[in-house]
Amino acid sequence: MKKIAILGSTGSIGTQALDVIKQHPDQFQAHTLTAGSNAELLIKQAREFKPDTVVIANEDKYTTVSQALSDLPIKVYAGPDALCQVVESTQIDMVLTAMVGFAGLRPTIAAIKAGKAIALANKETLVVAGQIISTLCTTHKVPILPVDSEHSAIFQCLNGEACNPIKRILLTASGGPFRSSTLAQLATVTAKQALQHPNWKMGAKITIDSATMLNKGFEMIEAHWLYNVKPHDIQIVIHPESIIHSAIEFNDGAVIAQLGTPDMRLPIQYAFSFPYRLPLQGKRLNLFEIGTLHFEQPDAQRFPCLQLAYDAIERKGNMPCILNAAGEITNAAFRNERISFLQIPQIIAQAMEQVDFIPQPTLDDLFQTDAITRQITESIISNH
Ligand code: NDP
Ligand code: MG
Repeated sequence: MKKIAILGSTGSIGTQALDVIKQHPDQFQAHTLTAGSNAELLIKQAREFKPDTVVIANEDKYTTVSQALSDLPIKVYAGPDALCQVVESTQIDMVLTAMVGFAGLRPTIAAIKAGKAIALANKETLVVAGQIISTLCTTHKVPILPVDSEHSAIFQCLNGEACNPIKRILLTASGGPFRSSTLAQLATVTAKQALQHPNWKMGAKITIDSATMLNKGFEMIEAHWLYNVKPHDIQIVIHPESIIHSAIEFNDGAVIAQLGTPDMRLPIQYAFSFPYRLPLQGKRLNLFEIGTLHFEQPDAQRFPCLQLAYDAIERKGNMPCILNAAGEITNAAFRNERISFLQIPQIIAQAMEQVDFIPQPTLDDLFQTDAITRQITESIISNH
Protein backbone atom coordinates (compact mmCIF):
# COMPACT_ATOMS: atom_id res chain seq x y z
CA MET A 1 0.00 0.00 0.00
CA LYS A 2 1.51 3.30 -1.13
CA LYS A 3 0.63 6.23 1.13
CA ILE A 4 0.35 9.44 -0.82
CA ALA A 5 0.20 13.08 0.22
CA ILE A 6 -1.73 15.16 -2.30
CA LEU A 7 -0.77 18.82 -2.14
CA GLY A 8 -3.63 20.63 -3.86
CA SER A 9 -6.24 17.87 -3.61
CA THR A 10 -9.10 20.26 -4.45
CA GLY A 11 -7.70 21.24 -7.85
CA SER A 12 -7.94 19.72 -11.30
CA ILE A 13 -4.96 17.37 -10.83
CA GLY A 14 -5.80 16.73 -7.17
CA THR A 15 -9.37 15.59 -7.82
CA GLN A 16 -8.25 13.36 -10.70
CA ALA A 17 -5.56 11.87 -8.44
CA LEU A 18 -8.27 11.01 -5.91
CA ASP A 19 -10.22 9.35 -8.70
CA VAL A 20 -7.16 7.19 -9.46
CA ILE A 21 -6.85 6.30 -5.77
CA LYS A 22 -10.54 5.42 -5.68
CA GLN A 23 -10.01 2.99 -8.58
CA HIS A 24 -7.20 1.21 -6.67
CA PRO A 25 -8.04 1.22 -2.95
CA ASP A 26 -5.83 -1.87 -2.46
CA GLN A 27 -2.75 -0.08 -3.87
CA PHE A 28 -2.95 3.58 -2.86
CA GLN A 29 -4.06 5.49 0.17
CA ALA A 30 -4.61 9.23 0.42
CA HIS A 31 -2.60 9.90 3.57
CA THR A 32 -2.64 13.71 3.45
CA LEU A 33 -4.89 16.12 1.60
CA THR A 34 -4.26 19.86 1.32
CA ALA A 35 -6.08 22.82 -0.18
CA GLY A 36 -5.57 26.55 -0.57
CA SER A 37 -8.90 27.87 0.65
CA ASN A 38 -11.62 25.57 -0.68
CA ALA A 39 -12.69 24.30 2.76
CA GLU A 40 -15.94 22.86 1.53
CA LEU A 41 -14.38 20.45 -0.98
CA LEU A 42 -11.50 19.59 1.36
CA ILE A 43 -14.02 18.58 4.04
CA LYS A 44 -15.99 16.50 1.55
CA GLN A 45 -12.80 14.75 0.36
CA ALA A 46 -11.64 14.14 3.93
CA ARG A 47 -14.97 12.53 4.87
CA GLU A 48 -14.79 10.27 1.81
CA PHE A 49 -11.08 9.29 1.82
CA LYS A 50 -10.45 9.39 5.59
CA PRO A 51 -6.86 10.67 5.36
CA ASP A 52 -4.56 10.82 8.36
CA THR A 53 -4.03 14.58 7.94
CA VAL A 54 -5.52 17.57 6.14
CA VAL A 55 -4.11 21.07 5.74
CA ILE A 56 -5.89 24.21 4.66
CA ALA A 57 -3.35 26.85 3.63
CA ASN A 58 -5.75 29.72 4.34
CA GLU A 59 -5.66 30.04 8.15
CA ASP A 60 -9.05 31.79 8.25
CA LYS A 61 -10.65 28.50 7.22
CA TYR A 62 -9.07 26.42 10.00
CA THR A 63 -12.05 26.47 12.37
CA THR A 64 -14.49 25.57 9.61
CA VAL A 65 -12.42 22.54 8.58
CA SER A 66 -11.53 21.31 12.07
CA GLN A 67 -15.11 21.60 13.33
CA ALA A 68 -16.53 19.82 10.30
CA LEU A 69 -14.11 16.90 10.84
CA SER A 70 -14.22 16.82 14.65
CA ASP A 71 -16.05 13.46 14.69
CA LEU A 72 -13.25 11.79 12.70
CA PRO A 73 -9.68 10.95 13.80
CA ILE A 74 -8.15 13.29 11.20
CA LYS A 75 -5.41 15.76 12.12
CA VAL A 76 -6.22 19.24 10.85
CA TYR A 77 -3.62 21.96 10.35
CA ALA A 78 -3.59 25.36 8.67
CA GLY A 79 -1.10 27.75 7.10
CA PRO A 80 1.66 27.51 4.51
CA ASP A 81 4.25 26.25 7.04
CA ALA A 82 2.05 23.27 7.87
CA LEU A 83 2.27 22.17 4.22
CA CYS A 84 6.03 21.79 4.62
CA GLN A 85 5.73 20.01 7.96
CA VAL A 86 3.10 17.41 7.06
CA VAL A 87 5.03 16.05 4.06
CA GLU A 88 7.80 14.99 6.45
CA SER A 89 5.60 12.34 8.13
CA THR A 90 7.43 9.01 8.18
CA GLN A 91 4.23 7.30 7.03
CA ILE A 92 4.19 9.06 3.63
CA ASP A 93 5.78 7.26 0.65
CA MET A 94 5.05 9.74 -2.11
CA VAL A 95 4.09 13.40 -2.43
CA LEU A 96 2.01 14.58 -5.39
CA THR A 97 2.76 18.28 -5.89
CA ALA A 98 -0.50 19.48 -7.44
CA MET A 99 -0.69 22.97 -6.07
CA VAL A 100 -0.35 25.83 -8.44
CA GLY A 101 2.49 28.33 -8.87
CA PHE A 102 5.54 29.35 -6.86
CA ALA A 103 3.71 28.30 -3.67
CA GLY A 104 4.62 24.71 -4.59
CA LEU A 105 8.36 25.27 -4.22
CA ARG A 106 8.79 25.19 -0.44
CA PRO A 107 6.67 22.08 0.25
CA THR A 108 8.39 20.26 -2.64
CA ILE A 109 11.80 21.02 -1.15
CA ALA A 110 10.60 19.85 2.27
CA ALA A 111 9.35 16.59 0.73
CA ILE A 112 12.64 15.98 -1.12
CA LYS A 113 14.66 16.64 2.04
CA ALA A 114 12.44 14.14 3.86
CA GLY A 115 13.30 11.56 1.17
CA LYS A 116 9.80 11.27 -0.31
CA ALA A 117 9.33 10.23 -3.93
CA ILE A 118 7.88 13.19 -5.81
CA ALA A 119 5.04 12.88 -8.31
CA LEU A 120 5.59 16.27 -9.90
CA ALA A 121 2.69 18.21 -11.35
CA ASN A 122 3.81 21.62 -10.05
CA LYS A 123 6.10 22.45 -12.98
CA GLU A 124 6.73 25.93 -11.57
CA THR A 125 9.07 24.29 -9.02
CA LEU A 126 11.44 23.15 -11.79
CA VAL A 127 11.06 26.36 -13.78
CA VAL A 128 12.03 28.50 -10.80
CA ALA A 129 14.66 26.31 -9.15
CA GLY A 130 15.56 23.52 -11.57
CA GLN A 131 19.24 23.49 -10.64
CA ILE A 132 18.64 23.48 -6.89
CA ILE A 133 15.90 20.83 -7.11
CA SER A 134 18.01 18.56 -9.32
CA THR A 135 20.94 18.76 -6.90
CA LEU A 136 18.67 18.13 -3.90
CA CYS A 137 17.12 15.09 -5.56
CA THR A 138 20.57 13.63 -6.23
CA THR A 139 21.73 14.32 -2.67
CA HIS A 140 18.63 12.80 -1.08
CA LYS A 141 18.30 10.00 -3.69
CA VAL A 142 14.77 11.08 -4.45
CA PRO A 143 13.10 10.16 -7.75
CA ILE A 144 10.88 12.64 -9.59
CA LEU A 145 7.98 10.94 -11.37
CA PRO A 146 6.59 13.41 -13.90
CA VAL A 147 2.83 14.01 -13.97
CA ASP A 148 2.72 16.60 -16.73
CA SER A 149 1.40 14.57 -19.70
CA GLU A 150 4.27 15.49 -22.04
CA HIS A 151 6.93 14.67 -19.47
CA SER A 152 5.21 11.45 -18.53
CA ALA A 153 5.18 10.58 -22.23
CA ILE A 154 8.94 11.23 -22.47
CA PHE A 155 9.48 9.21 -19.29
CA GLN A 156 7.51 6.31 -20.79
CA CYS A 157 9.45 6.52 -24.08
CA LEU A 158 12.71 6.28 -22.13
CA ASN A 159 11.89 2.93 -20.55
CA GLY A 160 14.76 0.59 -21.36
CA GLU A 161 16.80 3.31 -23.11
CA ALA A 162 19.17 4.23 -20.27
CA CYS A 163 22.24 3.53 -22.45
CA ASN A 164 20.99 5.66 -25.36
CA PRO A 165 21.39 9.43 -25.34
CA ILE A 166 18.40 11.55 -26.38
CA LYS A 167 19.02 13.31 -29.68
CA ARG A 168 15.93 15.48 -29.52
CA ILE A 169 12.69 15.83 -27.63
CA LEU A 170 9.54 16.51 -29.64
CA LEU A 171 7.38 18.31 -27.11
CA THR A 172 3.82 18.40 -28.37
CA ALA A 173 1.40 21.24 -27.71
CA SER A 174 -2.30 21.49 -28.54
CA GLY A 175 -1.81 25.15 -29.50
CA GLY A 176 -4.61 26.14 -27.13
CA PRO A 177 -7.87 27.92 -27.91
CA PHE A 178 -6.22 30.61 -30.08
CA ARG A 179 -4.09 28.37 -32.28
CA SER A 180 -5.71 29.70 -35.46
CA SER A 181 -6.46 33.26 -34.29
CA THR A 182 -4.83 36.16 -36.11
CA LEU A 183 -2.76 38.76 -34.30
CA ALA A 184 -5.63 41.23 -34.74
CA GLN A 185 -8.05 38.77 -33.16
CA LEU A 186 -5.64 38.06 -30.30
CA ALA A 187 -5.66 41.77 -29.44
CA THR A 188 -9.26 41.57 -28.25
CA VAL A 189 -9.65 38.03 -26.86
CA THR A 190 -11.12 37.81 -23.38
CA ALA A 191 -10.21 35.69 -20.37
CA LYS A 192 -13.51 33.85 -20.77
CA GLN A 193 -12.50 32.81 -24.29
CA ALA A 194 -9.00 31.89 -23.13
CA LEU A 195 -10.46 29.65 -20.42
CA GLN A 196 -12.14 27.42 -23.06
CA HIS A 197 -9.34 24.94 -23.72
CA PRO A 198 -10.18 22.63 -26.65
CA ASN A 199 -8.77 19.35 -25.25
CA TRP A 200 -8.00 19.58 -21.53
CA LYS A 201 -10.03 20.70 -18.51
CA MET A 202 -7.49 22.23 -16.16
CA GLY A 203 -7.15 24.88 -13.47
CA ALA A 204 -7.54 28.52 -14.53
CA LYS A 205 -3.87 29.51 -14.30
CA ILE A 206 -2.50 26.74 -16.52
CA THR A 207 -5.38 27.20 -18.98
CA ILE A 208 -4.40 30.84 -19.53
CA ASP A 209 -0.73 29.81 -19.75
CA SER A 210 -1.75 27.31 -22.43
CA ALA A 211 -3.51 30.04 -24.40
CA THR A 212 -0.36 32.24 -24.40
CA MET A 213 1.85 29.15 -24.78
CA LEU A 214 3.84 30.23 -21.74
CA ASN A 215 2.86 26.80 -20.42
CA LYS A 216 4.77 25.17 -23.28
CA GLY A 217 7.74 27.40 -22.50
CA PHE A 218 7.57 26.23 -18.88
CA GLU A 219 7.36 22.64 -20.08
CA MET A 220 10.44 23.08 -22.25
CA ILE A 221 12.32 24.26 -19.13
CA GLU A 222 10.81 21.40 -17.13
CA ALA A 223 11.97 18.88 -19.79
CA HIS A 224 15.45 20.44 -19.81
CA TRP A 225 15.86 19.79 -16.08
CA LEU A 226 14.15 16.39 -15.99
CA TYR A 227 15.97 14.89 -18.96
CA ASN A 228 19.17 16.96 -19.16
CA VAL A 229 18.48 17.97 -22.77
CA LYS A 230 19.62 21.34 -24.13
CA PRO A 231 16.76 23.80 -24.70
CA HIS A 232 17.51 23.94 -28.42
CA ASP A 233 17.24 20.17 -28.68
CA ILE A 234 13.66 20.44 -27.46
CA GLN A 235 11.40 21.12 -30.41
CA ILE A 236 7.87 22.35 -29.80
CA VAL A 237 5.41 20.66 -32.16
CA ILE A 238 1.85 21.96 -32.38
CA HIS A 239 -0.42 18.94 -32.53
CA PRO A 240 -4.04 20.05 -32.11
CA GLU A 241 -5.53 16.59 -31.43
CA SER A 242 -3.41 16.03 -28.26
CA ILE A 243 -3.08 12.31 -29.02
CA ILE A 244 0.73 12.10 -29.25
CA HIS A 245 1.74 13.32 -25.80
CA SER A 246 5.40 13.81 -26.82
CA ALA A 247 8.19 11.86 -28.47
CA ILE A 248 11.93 11.26 -28.38
CA GLU A 249 14.34 11.02 -31.27
CA PHE A 250 17.41 8.82 -30.84
CA ASN A 251 20.78 8.86 -32.65
CA ASP A 252 19.67 6.38 -35.30
CA GLY A 253 16.69 8.53 -36.24
CA ALA A 254 14.13 6.35 -34.44
CA VAL A 255 11.34 8.40 -32.93
CA ILE A 256 9.45 6.84 -30.02
CA ALA A 257 6.19 8.46 -28.96
CA GLN A 258 3.50 7.81 -26.38
CA LEU A 259 -0.11 8.08 -27.50
CA GLY A 260 -3.40 8.13 -25.67
CA THR A 261 -6.63 10.02 -25.21
CA PRO A 262 -6.18 13.36 -23.42
CA ASP A 263 -6.82 12.17 -19.84
CA MET A 264 -4.53 13.31 -17.02
CA ARG A 265 -5.45 10.31 -14.92
CA LEU A 266 -3.07 8.14 -16.95
CA PRO A 267 0.10 10.15 -16.21
CA ILE A 268 -1.03 10.64 -12.60
CA GLN A 269 -1.59 6.90 -12.16
CA TYR A 270 1.67 5.98 -13.89
CA ALA A 271 3.56 8.26 -11.52
CA PHE A 272 1.87 6.47 -8.63
CA SER A 273 2.31 2.91 -9.93
CA PHE A 274 5.65 3.08 -11.80
CA PRO A 275 7.12 0.74 -13.01
CA TYR A 276 3.80 -1.13 -13.08
CA ARG A 277 0.82 -0.33 -15.26
CA LEU A 278 -2.56 -0.74 -13.63
CA PRO A 279 -5.99 -0.89 -15.26
CA LEU A 280 -7.62 2.52 -15.67
CA GLN A 281 -11.26 3.18 -16.48
CA GLY A 282 -11.82 5.77 -19.16
CA LYS A 283 -12.07 6.30 -22.88
CA ARG A 284 -9.59 4.23 -24.93
CA LEU A 285 -7.69 5.48 -27.95
CA ASN A 286 -9.49 4.69 -31.22
CA LEU A 287 -7.29 5.73 -34.14
CA PHE A 288 -10.08 5.12 -36.67
CA GLU A 289 -12.30 7.57 -34.82
CA ILE A 290 -9.51 10.17 -34.87
CA GLY A 291 -8.58 9.53 -38.50
CA THR A 292 -5.93 12.20 -39.00
CA LEU A 293 -3.24 13.77 -36.86
CA HIS A 294 -1.92 17.27 -37.62
CA PHE A 295 1.38 19.00 -36.90
CA GLU A 296 2.37 22.67 -37.18
CA GLN A 297 5.30 24.93 -36.32
CA PRO A 298 4.68 27.26 -33.39
CA ASP A 299 4.26 30.92 -34.39
CA ALA A 300 6.69 33.09 -32.42
CA GLN A 301 5.01 36.30 -33.55
CA ARG A 302 1.59 35.45 -32.18
CA PHE A 303 2.92 33.56 -29.15
CA PRO A 304 6.05 35.42 -27.95
CA CYS A 305 5.93 33.75 -24.52
CA LEU A 306 7.65 30.71 -26.03
CA GLN A 307 10.70 32.73 -27.01
CA LEU A 308 10.74 34.42 -23.59
CA ALA A 309 11.03 30.97 -22.03
CA TYR A 310 13.95 30.04 -24.33
CA ASP A 311 15.61 33.38 -23.46
CA ALA A 312 15.10 32.77 -19.74
CA ILE A 313 16.61 29.28 -19.71
CA GLU A 314 19.50 30.33 -21.97
CA ARG A 315 20.40 33.07 -19.48
CA LYS A 316 19.74 30.71 -16.53
CA GLY A 317 20.38 32.16 -13.04
CA ASN A 318 17.26 33.76 -11.60
CA MET A 319 15.83 34.56 -15.07
CA PRO A 320 13.39 31.61 -15.19
CA CYS A 321 12.24 32.64 -11.71
CA ILE A 322 11.58 36.18 -13.02
CA LEU A 323 9.72 34.67 -15.99
CA ASN A 324 7.57 32.60 -13.64
CA ALA A 325 6.70 35.40 -11.20
CA ALA A 326 5.92 37.89 -13.97
CA GLY A 327 3.91 35.11 -15.61
CA GLU A 328 1.83 34.54 -12.47
CA ILE A 329 1.09 38.24 -12.01
CA THR A 330 0.20 38.90 -15.66
CA ASN A 331 -1.89 35.72 -15.78
CA ALA A 332 -4.00 36.93 -12.83
CA ALA A 333 -4.13 40.49 -14.24
CA PHE A 334 -5.48 39.18 -17.54
CA ARG A 335 -8.09 37.07 -15.75
CA ASN A 336 -9.11 40.18 -13.78
CA GLU A 337 -9.37 42.16 -17.02
CA ARG A 338 -6.61 44.58 -16.00
CA ILE A 339 -4.48 43.87 -19.07
CA SER A 340 -5.09 42.53 -22.57
CA PHE A 341 -3.93 39.17 -23.90
CA LEU A 342 -1.11 40.64 -25.98
CA GLN A 343 0.15 42.69 -23.05
CA ILE A 344 1.00 39.50 -21.17
CA PRO A 345 4.28 38.79 -23.06
CA GLN A 346 5.11 42.51 -23.30
CA ILE A 347 4.93 42.97 -19.54
CA ILE A 348 6.80 39.74 -18.81
CA ALA A 349 9.59 40.92 -21.16
CA GLN A 350 9.76 44.26 -19.34
CA ALA A 351 9.99 42.52 -15.97
CA MET A 352 12.79 40.29 -17.33
CA GLU A 353 14.69 43.47 -18.26
CA GLN A 354 14.06 45.36 -15.04
CA VAL A 355 14.68 42.81 -12.29
CA ASP A 356 18.34 42.41 -11.28
CA PHE A 357 19.95 39.37 -12.84
CA ILE A 358 21.68 36.91 -10.49
CA PRO A 359 23.82 34.32 -12.31
CA GLN A 360 24.11 31.79 -9.45
CA PRO A 361 21.11 32.32 -7.18
CA THR A 362 20.72 30.65 -3.80
CA LEU A 363 17.28 29.56 -2.68
CA ASP A 364 16.99 32.79 -0.65
CA ASP A 365 17.88 34.76 -3.79
CA LEU A 366 15.04 33.02 -5.61
CA PHE A 367 12.51 33.89 -2.90
CA GLN A 368 13.66 37.51 -3.12
CA THR A 369 13.59 37.47 -6.90
CA ASP A 370 10.03 36.13 -6.78
CA ALA A 371 8.90 38.86 -4.37
CA ILE A 372 10.66 41.71 -6.23
CA THR A 373 9.43 40.52 -9.62
CA ARG A 374 5.85 40.48 -8.35
CA GLN A 375 6.23 44.10 -7.15
CA ILE A 376 7.88 45.28 -10.35
CA THR A 377 5.35 43.51 -12.55
CA GLU A 378 2.49 45.04 -10.56
CA SER A 379 3.97 48.51 -11.01
CA ILE A 380 4.45 47.96 -14.76
CA ILE A 381 0.77 46.96 -14.95
CA SER A 382 -0.35 49.99 -12.91
CA ASN A 383 1.63 52.37 -15.13
CA HIS A 384 0.28 50.95 -18.35
P1 NDP B 1 -5.95 24.13 -9.84
O1 NDP B 1 -6.03 25.60 -9.80
O2 NDP B 1 -7.10 23.37 -10.39
O3 NDP B 1 -5.66 23.57 -8.38
C1 NDP B 1 -4.65 24.10 -7.58
C2 NDP B 1 -4.63 23.44 -6.23
O4 NDP B 1 -3.66 24.09 -5.42
C3 NDP B 1 -5.95 23.57 -5.48
O5 NDP B 1 -6.09 22.47 -4.62
C4 NDP B 1 -5.74 24.85 -4.67
O6 NDP B 1 -6.55 24.95 -3.54
C5 NDP B 1 -4.28 24.68 -4.27
N1 NDP B 1 -3.60 25.94 -4.01
C6 NDP B 1 -3.63 27.05 -4.79
N2 NDP B 1 -2.88 28.02 -4.24
C7 NDP B 1 -2.38 27.51 -3.09
C8 NDP B 1 -1.55 28.03 -2.06
N3 NDP B 1 -1.07 29.28 -2.11
N4 NDP B 1 -1.24 27.23 -1.04
C9 NDP B 1 -1.71 25.98 -0.97
N5 NDP B 1 -2.50 25.43 -1.90
C10 NDP B 1 -2.84 26.19 -2.95
O7 NDP B 1 -4.62 23.77 -10.64
P2 NDP B 1 -4.29 22.48 -11.51
O8 NDP B 1 -4.71 21.25 -10.80
O9 NDP B 1 -4.74 22.70 -12.90
O10 NDP B 1 -2.71 22.55 -11.56
C11 NDP B 1 -1.90 22.18 -10.45
C12 NDP B 1 -0.45 22.08 -10.91
O11 NDP B 1 -0.36 21.02 -11.84
C13 NDP B 1 0.05 23.34 -11.62
O12 NDP B 1 1.39 23.54 -11.31
C14 NDP B 1 -0.09 22.98 -13.09
O13 NDP B 1 0.84 23.66 -13.90
C15 NDP B 1 0.18 21.50 -13.07
N6 NDP B 1 -0.42 20.75 -14.18
C16 NDP B 1 -1.78 20.72 -14.32
C17 NDP B 1 -2.38 20.03 -15.35
C18 NDP B 1 -3.86 19.91 -15.47
O14 NDP B 1 -4.35 19.17 -16.31
N7 NDP B 1 -4.64 20.59 -14.66
C19 NDP B 1 -1.55 19.35 -16.36
C20 NDP B 1 -0.14 19.41 -16.10
C21 NDP B 1 0.39 20.10 -15.05
P3 NDP B 1 -8.03 25.65 -3.64
O15 NDP B 1 -8.86 24.72 -4.43
O16 NDP B 1 -8.43 25.74 -2.23
O17 NDP B 1 -7.79 26.96 -4.31
MG1 MG C 1 1.46 19.53 -20.08
